[in-house]
Amino acid sequence: MNRRHSLTARTLRLAAIRIGLVSICAGVASYLVNLSSIEASVRGQLLLSTEQTIQRESLPFRAIRDFERNFLDDFDARYADPGQRAALAADFDRLFVRHPDGSYTQRPGIFEGQPLPDGRRFPGMSATYAPETPPTEDIKTRFTLSFVLSYKYGSVTRGRLFNIYGPLPEKGFPVHQSADIAKGFTYGGPDALRLETYEFYARGFAANAREPFMTRMYFDSSNQAWMTTFATPDTPDAAGRHRILACVDVLLDDLMRRLARPAIEGAYSTLFLADDEGTLMFHPKHMETIEESDGQASIRSLGLEGETRLLSAGAALAPGQVVLVDTPGAIVAVGRIPETPAILTIHYPRALMRPAILQNLAVVVAVGLLTLLVEIVILRNILRFQVARPLEQLIRATRLLGSGTERKVEEKDLPTGSRDEIGDLARAFAGMAEQVQSARAELESKVLERTLELEAANRKLAAMSTTDSLTDIANRRRFDAALEEEWRRAMRSGSSLTLSMIDVDWFKKYNDRYGHQSGDACLRQIARVLESTARRAGDLVARYGGEEFTLITCGTTPSCSPGLPHAIRAAVEQLQLPHADSPFHLVTVSIGVACRVPMADQTPDSLLQEADAALYRAKAEGRNRVVVLC
Ligand code: GH3
Ligand code: MG
Ligand code: MG
Repeated sequence: MNRRHSLTARTLRLAAIRIGLVSICAGVASYLVNLSSIEASVRGQLLLSTEQTIQRESLPFRAIRDFERNFLDDFDARYADPGQRAALAADFDRLFVRHPDGSYTQRPGIFEGQPLPDGRRFPGMSATYAPETPPTEDIKTRFTLSFVLSYKYGSVTRGRLFNIYGPLPEKGFPVHQSADIAKGFTYGGPDALRLETYEFYARGFAANAREPFMTRMYFDSSNQAWMTTFATPDTPDAAGRHRILACVDVLLDDLMRRLARPAIEGAYSTLFLADDEGTLMFHPKHMETIEESDGQASIRSLGLEGETRLLSAGAALAPGQVVLVDTPGAIVAVGRIPETPAILTIHYPRALMRPAILQNLAVVVAVGLLTLLVEIVILRNILRFQVARPLEQLIRATRLLGSGTERKVEEKDLPTGSRDEIGDLARAFAGMAEQVQSARAELESKVLERTLELEAANRKLAAMSTTDSLTDIANRRRFDAALEEEWRRAMRSGSSLTLSMIDVDWFKKYNDRYGHQSGDACLRQIARVLESTARRAGDLVARYGGEEFTLITCGTTPSCSPGLPHAIRAAVEQLQLPHADSPFHLVTVSIGVACRVPMADQTPDSLLQEADAALYRAKAEGRNRVVVLC
């Protein structure tokens, strides 16, 4: 059987195609479902993560805002107390020294921590006053107060915050930090400090400035770090003027480090200010440009088209709010960091979703293939053991039945034990096989019976064809054949062959007188006499025709043996059958005998003619006698 076209192979192929199609469909469905569910989950995660990040990043700025608020409240409270104000004005000369050029700095040694005569120390404090006007009592009070508070707050936040200071609009600049700026300060007139060129100064002392703000980032050479200044203006007076500005320089390195590695693997962040330009603070792809521009680079100046959308989306946000913006390559969370004008974006490239989707797809395909494997094994076993083998058994049984050999189809040749359709088929087949086999057996026995009958008939026919129907002795045909045969045998063996022609005398007259029936009966009686007289194995009596008989006598020697014709003649006479019209008054026979050892140049006919001639002589010599010609 060609296995490739077997039922099992076809079914297994079908199973493979079916599972293949199911896997592909399930894969496509899984891909689509995963695409939307994974994207939804990414969006949720992105939103949540960005909200958490901006809240976390806002904490230091909130602390600084509170800190600066406290600083200004402290300032206001002390400034409002006339007694303290007088003492502060008096401290001015203890703390600062006027230089010949009209500028003031803190007294030498103060930064290093040397005590004043009254024992107070202000280590880490430095101050410059680049007067546009000579210090008035109020300026002295505010400058000293700012110096004292900068030290107070700066010394307790050392290590956490950098450069705590409260500059005056009159260009007084006390600061708590790690470097003594007074040492490097050279006064060159009212424009010496040029504080108005600093963003924090210009914005902090602007007419209507009220809210805390953050400057664009800048590189601080004294700290060798990127920084921004977080400043809170005090409450302006009726004329809109500020007396002091609380400032803290914030190191951006930690913030940048954190932004460079967002919580979501594979995502990246940017940070820019919600100003018109979108001043960049952090952008992983443009950090060098940002640093080279000294913090001036912006979304617009760099022509970052993709980010412009994010800038306008971010500018519309309330502090702490996060929105998702879809760009061609990424899902971007845009959030405004509370307490700051900074906008944080977290970009999640869409390509990141692909591995997760493909992983799910791989699981679906793997499950499909596993199912296929299991199904193939099960199907193969079912088909092999419950279908193919029983069918093969049936095929063998059909061939056996068709071959018609003696071996019969038996119960063990068929899967009749199966309790399924094949079992039904096998049982039906067994029934049919039994019928076919019994019909065949019946047919065979009938054929045998007919054959036997036919053989008997043939034998009878053969006997009939060589037997004379009247006398039941051999007929002329048999005689001819026997004469021929015996002639050849005698010739081979060199023995003699004796042929006698026996003719009933005056038989016509017998018939005439006694009737044909009696004639027949007479012939039968003579035949019996012939039979009973010539009984040796080599003797053959036959009816030659009419009332003539022949006798073949085979001798074992070359000499003739005419004894038997004489015995026959006598035996007929002995029958004593009356024959009124015969001179003997009895039925008699005349016998002509010819005898010889056959020669190659002779024919059996010659022997026959000779016997006939002898018979002729017997008749002629008076009948009821034997004439032998040898
Ligand atoms: P012969 O002594 O010279 O032999 O005289 P015959 O009358 O016997 O010889 P013939 O040849 O003249 O006659 C033979 C007769 O034998 C003629 C025929 O009626 C008779 N015959 C031949 N065959 C049969 C037969 O089968 N049955 C009967 N009843 N008679 C037969
Ligand atoms: Mg005759
Ligand atoms: Mg006769």
